[in-house]
Amino acid sequence: MKFRFKNQIQCQKPTYSWLTLSKKITMADQERTELGSLGEFGLIDSLTSSFELRNESSVYGIGDDAAVLERDEETFTLVSTDILIEGIHFNLMYMPLKHLGYKAVAVNVSDIVAMNGKAEQITVSIAVSNRFPLEALQELYSGIELACSNYNVDLVGGDTSSSHSGLMISVTAIGVVAKSKVVYRNGAQANDLIVVTGDLGGAYIGLQVLEREKTVFEANPNIQPDLEGKDYIIQRQLKPEARKDVQEYLIELGVVPTSMIDVSDGLASELLHISRQSKVGVRVYNTKIPIDSLTSTTAIDFNLDPVTCALNGGEDYELLFTVSQSDFDKIKGNPHMTIIGYVTDETEGNYLVDSNNSLVELKAQGWQHF
Ligand code: ADP
Ligand code: MG
Repeated sequence: MKFRFKNQIQCQKPTYSWLTLSKKITMADQERTELGSLGEFGLIDSLTSSFELRNESSVYGIGDDAAVLERDEETFTLVSTDILIEGIHFNLMYMPLKHLGYKAVAVNVSDIVAMNGKAEQITVSIAVSNRFPLEALQELYSGIELACSNYNVDLVGGDTSSSHSGLMISVTAIGVVAKSKVVYRNGAQANDLIVVTGDLGGAYIGLQVLEREKTVFEANPNIQPDLEGKDYIIQRQLKPEARKDVQEYLIELGVVPTSMIDVSDGLASELLHISRQSKVGVRVYNTKIPIDSLTSTTAIDFNLDPVTCALNGGEDYELLFTVSQSDFDKIKGNPHMTIIGYVTDETEGNYLVDSNNSLVELKAQGWQHF
């Protein structure tokens, strides 16, 4: 027997019956686990923990900023992928397509940098609906091209699909690192110093400003967005940069971090990754967390605590790393780096030391997509 689908394509009857299929769905329903109860990392873990690495060339699989693959005697290849979905990661009401293209590349370069590597190639996959004209996608690609030029990477492939409504862009970055220089999340040791680059919380508070102005605009399209004086935090949200420059500073200083991660989900979440994977505790001082003055004043305008924005906001794409105590003199006073705390034994737990010297347990609240 042959089916006739609406689009007139002839095809063979599937080998399973719909009855069997619906039974399977019902069974699955009985063991239903809500994704929201798992969180991002619990979900990744439950989906992938049973997978083994079968090839010797797969040096390090899931669990760091990039996968590490054997390349030659001296170097590893690094691979990292990130996906950006309209309505989840960006809103085209305030995210210009050129910026979106730039950001999609930058966030992947950032993951390669977090392994102390150098990104060399990217592939770009997009799904687009026909609500976008060619010119819009050319804008997106002009941002991708600018990022390729700024980060010195080559676009070497990708995939293109239609989508029913939203825009999706997924970038894979491929990089290289000397075997002796690769830095994982799992190398932190008790007594190491915890260092963060740049300042934190700006991207999150920039997003709050953009969201507020979007709401005002939707209510009254005659009112133009009021972004006066907010350039820095808007830029932190719309045009983040991978901290490739920090790699150079570290080489100049002669410092190789013991562990490293980029701050994509908020400082708290990243500290807990380092703690879990290095089997150590962390202790950071809230007064030491670098926060730009515009981030602070704007957070306060929104009735938000600036430190909470830095801990849980995310998307700053700064680097968080640990260094040996013996590197203290090299890092101290560096304008690009701030020592925010130190690594402890695992049994001492993960704590923020607040302004009253009280310990507040660190919890990750960065990611709530489901
Ligand atoms: P980052 O924030 O540095 O981009 P993620 O938190 O997205 O890293 O991912 C953590 C780890 O889980 C990475 O090694 C990533 O490759 C892996 N990962 C994420 N999603 C999946 C998935 N759906 N299947 C397999 N591995 C995944
Ligand atoms: Mg990362």
